[in-house]
Amino acid sequence: MKTIEMLIECPSCNGTGLYSGMVESKDTAVICYRCNGTGAYNYSYSYNKFVKRKIKDGICRVFLKGTRYKLGLGKINFEGVGEIDMDKEGISYSEFLDGKKPKHIKKLECPLLADQDSCQKIKGFTPECNSLNGGYINIITKCKNQPNKDKCWERFEKEINI
Ligand SMILES: [Zn+2]
Repeated sequence: MKTIEMLIECPSCNGTGLYSGMVESKDTAVICYRCNGTGAYNYSYSYNKFVKRKIKDGICRVFLKGTRYKLGLGKINFEGVGEIDMDKEGISYSEFLDGKKPKHIKKLECPLLADQDSCQKIKGFTPECNSLNGGYINIITKCKNQPNKDKCWERFEKEINI
């Protein structure tokens, strides 16, 4: 473990030692809590230099991030979704180590729930979601088209290579 240490301008008060926030009037200030009025801040960051990816003990399967559910192995009965064999979703740890990437668990979530960022980047994707819902979607889990999320995954995959 290595440590970088640097004496820097206090980031809370820009090195002035004084802080004027919402409760102080324009011509008053309080002593900065972070640097105790010195204006100086001793920045310290500890790190390990990267050599190669390490092995994480005890991992069997790897999934994409973004699911709202607690993930596990074997058959899991997800509330409002039904049973999914998690051993058939995602990828094994050794596949991950070989450079493979898991796919979304399509039975679990629609594209908008699983990867809202990508959906928003696809032109016209979310307007179509609203249209399929029959109106603006306030709560994604309550979209009326949720039972047909396979079709939404088709729309998604046409645009995004995953
Ligand atoms: Zn300060």
